[in-house]
Amino acid sequence: MKTKTLKKDKVNIITLGCSKNMVDSEAFGGQLSANGIDVVHENRRRDHNIVVVNTCGFIDKAKEESVNTILEQVALKRSGKLDKVYVTGCLSERYRQSLTDEIPEVDAWFGTMELPQMLKQFNADYKAELVGERLLSTPKHYAYLKIAEGCNRTCSFCAIPLMRGNHVSKTIEEVISEARRLVKMGVKEIMLIAQELTYYGLDIYKKRALPDLLKHLSDLEGLSWIRLHYAYPHKFPLEILDVMAERENICNYLDMPLQHISDPMLKAMKRQITRAEITDLIGAVRDRVPGICIRTTLIAGFPGETREDVEDLKQFLTDTRLDRVGIFTYSHEENTSAYELEDNVPAEEKEARAQEIMAVQQEISFEKNQEKIGNTYKVIVDKKEAGRYLGRTEFDSVEVDNEVVIDGAKKLPIGDFVNVRITKAFDYDLEGEVV
Ligand code: SF4
Repeated sequence: MKTKTLKKDKVNIITLGCSKNMVDSEAFGGQLSANGIDVVHENRRRDHNIVVVNTCGFIDKAKEESVNTILEQVALKRSGKLDKVYVTGCLSERYRQSLTDEIPEVDAWFGTMELPQMLKQFNADYKAELVGERLLSTPKHYAYLKIAEGCNRTCSFCAIPLMRGNHVSKTIEEVISEARRLVKMGVKEIMLIAQELTYYGLDIYKKRALPDLLKHLSDLEGLSWIRLHYAYPHKFPLEILDVMAERENICNYLDMPLQHISDPMLKAMKRQITRAEITDLIGAVRDRVPGICIRTTLIAGFPGETREDVEDLKQFLTDTRLDRVGIFTYSHEENTSAYELEDNVPAEEKEARAQEIMAVQQEISFEKNQEKIGNTYKVIVDKKEAGRYLGRTEFDSVEVDNEVVIDGAKKLPIGDFVNVRITKAFDYDLEGEVV
């Protein structure tokens, strides 16, 4: 069967999409490796003969990237450089039948919840005792920790519940055991993730149990930073903030996608919250954790979005001065309830609105960064690039937020903390020296 002269199979996992997909790839890698199978993530050495593509099926751009990646891999197989190509993840979950017909060279397609079936392809057994044991794809000083799967919300633009199902929380014991394993592996910073973080526990404990979970996590020795991602504004459990304020190792950082601010848009998006409630919530968050960094995500060009809605959003950003903002252009996704609406904002206009909104935020980010000059921050050193060390403050998550460029340092411990006094500030990034 082997076309490549490899004594032993070697598997390369290619992960697309979000951090939740990355955790799935790491869990799969952990199981394969525990079964004695040689496995790597994003293998640049190309000395593998089997590929597993873990796809994203969220929005148009992501779907396109996933299909192109699959086609690249089957082309390598056709040219004899690969023996097997397997596909899993959200795109496969959502379009398995049509993809099977369109790309017959793929050896097998798997959904988002089919880890045991995937392992069977490798004559490997699923080892339940290994839950939480992961082959990390991140640098070893930080990791994502997925505390739940799926989502019970009905945001009209979102296809995620179609691909990930209903919300299922892990137990506090499972999460703590996984966190303990990560800390043992050298992890100092954990990003807590889920489709909807603040829903945690409602299914298994019949209450919003994130505050309890945070206390347990925060008690874990060796865990320096705990960061919250994907909080939902509706019915936001404010008790989280009291735990955050009280515990040194929970970053004063909150990622809470708002998607929009104008009431007509929030209604059409089925976000179950109003502009006034969002504004009050942000006020309460800042009261309970002064100086907290608030990150959000927005959508530009949703069906029916008017000039007035766009101006409303820009004014909201100007008035509220959030710290970090990301933006997507609306993607018309079949089988979502928004698909019944007319996608009446042309693609270029969507892009133009996204840039217009981010231009407002860029100015705010620059002004806020200026205020940091002269201050000293605890910084985690992530990497060395072009002879300079790069790191992050507790107000910056990996990949999506700002970085601190550390000047003049000869040798710094990657994955450790240093104190940095800020000397320069730009639209997004900061620069400083170790003190
Ligand atoms: S909270 Fe809304 S946007 Fe987020 S995954 Fe659930 S349905 Fe999608």
